Amino acid sequence: MHVFTTAAELRAYSEAARSAGRRLALVPTMGALHNGHLQLVQAGAAAGYDVIASIFVNPTQFNNSDDLRLYPRLPEQDTALLAGAGCTALFMPTVAEMYPQPTVLHFDFGPLERVMEGAHRPGHFNGVATVVSKLFHLARPHAAYFGQKDFQQVALVRQLIEDLSFDLELIVYPTVREVDGLAMSSRNRRLSAEARAAAPLLYRVLTQAAEQVRQGVAPAEVQALAQAALATEPQFTPEYFEVADAQTLQPLAQYVAGCGVVLCVAAHLSGVRLIDNVVV
Ligand code: AMP
Repeated sequence: MHVFTTAAELRAYSEAARSAGRRLALVPTMGALHNGHLQLVQAGAAAGYDVIASIFVNPTQFNNSDDLRLYPRLPEQDTALLAGAGCTALFMPTVAEMYPQPTVLHFDFGPLERVMEGAHRPGHFNGVATVVSKLFHLARPHAAYFGQKDFQQVALVRQLIEDLSFDLELIVYPTVREVDGLAMSSRNRRLSAEARAAAPLLYRVLTQAAEQVRQGVAPAEVQALAQAALATEPQFTPEYFEVADAQTLQPLAQYVAGCGVVLCVAAHLSGVRLIDNVVV
C-alpha cells in the first residue's frame, strides 16, 4: 500500500493509475478506523477498484473545539488495518497540506443543511463540502464510498456531485453495527464502560420508531414516543429525533405515499455525541 502525505503525490498517483487504465475508488475518513470504515474499503476492492483511503481529521468541519481536540488519532494502527483490508493507497495529509491558506469559498446547501446536523453544528457541512471537493479533485476517483451512518452527509455529497459535475459514482454503504445494534463510530472509543452499556438504546429506539412508522403512527407521535424512550436513560441528553422525508430531509407532518421516511437521532452520552438513523 502506498502512503502519501502530499497533494502532489496523490495527484501523480491518480494520474498514473488512470493512464494505466485502473479504476479508482475513494474512501474519505477521519481515521480511528473501525469495521464500518474497513467494509467500505473492502467493498471498493471487491468491486475491482484500486481503493484510495484518506485519513484527515478535518478541522473546518468541527464546530466544537473539544470534539476536535479529543478526536481519536491512531495513524499506525489505521495504516496496518487499511493494508490488511486491501487498500491500494492511503492519503494522510497535514492540515497545512490541505489548507495552505484559509478557504474563502462557502457552500450553502439550502434547506438540506438547515435541519438536523446542519442546524445543530453550524459550519459543519461547509467544512465537509470543502474537504470532500478537495479530495475529489486530488484523487480524481471513478467512485466514492460513503456510509449511510451519516445520512445527511450523503444527501449533501450527492448534491455536491450534481451541482459541481464531479464525474464519479457515489456509492452508499449500509451502516455497520456492533452485535448489540450500536452503530460503529470512531467516537465510541471515548465512551465509558457505563455509557457503552447504555448506548444501544439509540438503535433500539430507532427500530421501535421504524415499526411505528410502518404501522402508520403519525410522525409527531413517533417523535414524542422516541424522545420519551430516550429520556428513560438518564445518561442520554437527546439533541434531536426527526421523522423526515428521506429525499429532502425536511421533517414530515404526515406521510406521503411513495415518499421514503428516514428517522434520524443525535444524542450526547457521557460527553460523546452520537448520531444514528434508519430508513423505513
Ligand atoms: P468518519 O471517519 O466518521 O468521517 O467516516 C468516514 C466514512 O465512513 C463516512 O462515509 C462514514 O459515513 C462512514 N462510516 C462511519 N461509520 C460507519 C458505519 N458504522 N458503517 C458504515 N459506514 C460508516
